[in-house]
Amino acid sequence: MKLKLHWQILIAMAVGVVFGIIFQNVYHGEPTGWFYGLITSLGTIFIRLLKMVIVPLIFSSIVTGVSGISDGKSLGRLGGKTLLYYVTTSLFAILIGLTLTNIIRPGDGVTLATSANFDASTIQTPGSPAGILIRMIPLNPVNAASSGDMLGIIFFAIFLGVVITKLEPKYRDTLRNLFESFFEAIMKVTEYVIKLAPLGVLGLITKAVATSGFDLFTAVGIYMATIATGLTIHLFVVLPILFFLLTRINPIHHYRSMASAMATAFSTSSSSATLPVTMRCIEENAGVSNRVSSFVLPMGATVNMDGTALYECAGVLFIAQVLGIDLSFSQQFIVVITALLASIGAAGIPSAGLVMIFIVTQAVGFKDADVALIIGTMLAVDRPLDMFRTMVNVTSDSIGTAIIAKSEGETELYQNVKM
Ligand code: ASP
Repeated sequence: MKLKLHWQILIAMAVGVVFGIIFQNVYHGEPTGWFYGLITSLGTIFIRLLKMVIVPLIFSSIVTGVSGISDGKSLGRLGGKTLLYYVTTSLFAILIGLTLTNIIRPGDGVTLATSANFDASTIQTPGSPAGILIRMIPLNPVNAASSGDMLGIIFFAIFLGVVITKLEPKYRDTLRNLFESFFEAIMKVTEYVIKLAPLGVLGLITKAVATSGFDLFTAVGIYMATIATGLTIHLFVVLPILFFLLTRINPIHHYRSMASAMATAFSTSSSSATLPVTMRCIEENAGVSNRVSSFVLPMGATVNMDGTALYECAGVLFIAQVLGIDLSFSQQFIVVITALLASIGAAGIPSAGLVMIFIVTQAVGFKDADVALIIGTMLAVDRPLDMFRTMVNVTSDSIGTAIIAKSEGETELYQNVKM
């Protein structure tokens, strides 16, 4: 009997942890040697293959999905629901982060001066929220595609998709068929790439475990535990309850359908790189139409980041506690709003959320130099938190897709779910 893909991936993760621990004990530092090189290159190859399909996948799927929605009203409704879902769940996540960090106060009494060696000038602080919106419009779509500017590609693809519906039938049908066929071909490519997921995940997890320094983890253990607890509550309590309330479907079906995507998000720390797997799981396992998934998922991968939003808020309060600053109610309110904007602005790549913390600390008026010292330590322990929050980000995107599909009257959901 052939083992289901998500079980293969989970086993690969476990083996990766064992390999990682062995390498750590053998090398006591950055491991070397041909065997380590071989295993970790499996991870690199997997990520490269995923990245290879992202741009053609998002582009063809959005154009196909949007051009299949013939009236502007449906499109507006879909857009409205999508944005409402993104904002609501991100705010839930932020409130969990806010509450937990205020109760546990992980930053009290932590002194980090010796462990931090981080140069603030290496950080590029992102622009204003308005700037993020303006940057959505690409100067040149081809350039956006070649530089992996996701929001730029999405903007152009939606625009093109809408315009295709307005063409004369002769042109409209030709273009639609062309993009649909191309989309099918890219989905097939994705199917082959995903078959390699267990090997890729083995390489990625081995490297993550082998290269992490556990000493620092214990120094800021409570901070990490606070964030992990918040992410767990959001992932396994808030999102499933929301899912159940809005769809009346057992959430376990959804988590089973998405297991491979969740494991890939965890191993790659990148919502964008995981997008091909997320799309396949939601369409093949959960049975959501391309019309909805092509609209909600690609944008969700860059815009809807619940895990990151929780992390921004909790991270800034942690920094305030380490610096011994008490934030007033209105300052905490600013933290909530800017954490939301920072999570929207963060790219779906590893550690993007950490850099975005500067948006929030600047909004409440902390000095960059003080903050940089603490962020240096946060960066050193960021990998496991990043893996976890990326998994939450991707799961939230997929739950939103399923909820919206159900609300659009789709009835064939979760017919293929088996363990
Ligand atoms: N790595 C996260 C993602 O791709 C973003 C972050 O750093 O929070 O979803």
